Amino acid sequence: MTDKTNTPTKHKPARERLRASEIRYRRLFEAARDGILILDAGTREIRDLNPYMVELLGFSHAELLGKELWQIGLLKDAQASRDAFRELEQTGYIRYDHLPLHTKEGKSREVEFVSNVYEEDGHQVIQCNIRDISERRHAEELVRKANDELMVFVAELQRRESEMQLLNRMTDLLQTCNTQEEAYKVIALQAGELFAAHNGCVAILHPSGQHLETVARWGDQAPVGPSFPLEDCWALRRGTPHEVIDPRARWLCRHFVQQIETDYLCVPLMVQGEILGLLSLVGAATRRGPHQVSQQQLAVMAGESIKLCLSNLKLRKKLHAQATHDPLTGLFNRRYLEDTLGRELHRAHRRNSPLGVAMLDLDHFKQFNDSFGHHAGDSLLRELGQLLRDKLRKSDISCRYGGEEFVLILPDSSLADTQQRVEQIRGLIKELKIRHGDRLFGAIAASAGVAGAPEHGSTSHELLRAADNALYDAKQAGRDRVVVYQAKQS
Ligand code: GH3
Ligand code: MG
Ligand code: MG
Repeated sequence: MTDKTNTPTKHKPARERLRASEIRYRRLFEAARDGILILDAGTREIRDLNPYMVELLGFSHAELLGKELWQIGLLKDAQASRDAFRELEQTGYIRYDHLPLHTKEGKSREVEFVSNVYEEDGHQVIQCNIRDISERRHAEELVRKANDELMVFVAELQRRESEMQLLNRMTDLLQTCNTQEEAYKVIALQAGELFAAHNGCVAILHPSGQHLETVARWGDQAPVGPSFPLEDCWALRRGTPHEVIDPRARWLCRHFVQQIETDYLCVPLMVQGEILGLLSLVGAATRRGPHQVSQQQLAVMAGESIKLCLSNLKLRKKLHAQATHDPLTGLFNRRYLEDTLGRELHRAHRRNSPLGVAMLDLDHFKQFNDSFGHHAGDSLLRELGQLLRDKLRKSDISCRYGGEEFVLILPDSSLADTQQRVEQIRGLIKELKIRHGDRLFGAIAASAGVAGAPEHGSTSHELLRAADNALYDAKQAGRDRVVVYQAKQS
């Protein structure tokens, strides 16, 4: 009884378990988001495939069933695939991490392909599990590209940083320059490093405002001549950087030494609308990467630093000239004389050489002013300034001491020489033709007192006093003469 009742209950759950397992397997097979192919190991024909396989490849169930894989053009290299299946038969397992499969539409899908062989109902079957990794591969490709871009970006940043360091160094060095000549040397060296791939130069506008003079250059060829007219440069004419990528362009600057055959860039150096000079760079591929400071920007930044330095030095020079010169005659002023005479005396003493001093005063200048007017008097003082600048040596120093009184310092000049040279100046003053407008005025005479070191003293004060005394004697003796100081017998 027990057996009779127990037997069916024993078998039924086993069958049901089997059925349930089959249903579970079937559901897995049907619902899987991986492609599954079951092939006959003997014929290698497709015996079964899951719906995802249809979705992945675009072939219908019927188009695939009973076909060999290489028959339907699924695999790119049919021969390699046959070889792979031979290997599969020997080893029972093959795996490909990246395998391109062709869909019915002719698109390529990147898949991970795993095959193994097992026995089913006494038959060898091959199960292929196929995972579409196209999107993963695409994402990996995007990451790789982003990484490549990042590397380029990092390299550009590094280059930019080194350019900024060089630029900062040039700016720092330029700020420590005391003279324009010093600045020109710094520019040639530092710009040569900053624009190592270029030939380049900096040219400065001549005070005449008509032409520029090249003051610094770098690279193996001088791109621009030593001097060129302002209108030869488009950047200077337009007041904005002029970049030429193709030298066959129509708007080429004319200041190049040779016919220009590469790209170039001219940056005008302008301060408050006034042209100070030009920065010119010749012959290097223009960089225009998305993250790069273009060559033009870098040149403009370098130009800013250069022009700031040069305009500061120019201003300093101008202020110094104003502080040491008399604006009417262009001669040195009394303050400069006081600073300089002591120094010149010291140098003469050290070198054991003589030094002459003359104090020169126009005769009856008040009368001249009264007769011809103050403007005519000014013209005369200007002419006299010009005469002294022209006729004295470069090492001589002529100063406007006061109204119509002048002091001349003649280093390395003996008393006799000084007397002779001042006499010569006196003669030339008498020959001065003073014009004011279209009027010509009468001649003027001058008196001068001469003193010398070491004979008449060793300090500025002693020498100036001696020269002044001699001048007084010249006036007393009737003017229009040069008198050498004579120590008075007390
Ligand atoms: P003396 O022969 O004794 O030197 O007579 P003087 O008339 O030259 O001398 P005085 O000192 O009497 O007059 C100096 C004149 O120089 C008076 C002043 O008007 C003139 N003077 C001084 N500075 C200037 C200037 O900058 N321009 C003009 N036009 N005249 C000046
Ligand atoms: Mg006078
Ligand atoms: Mg006087």
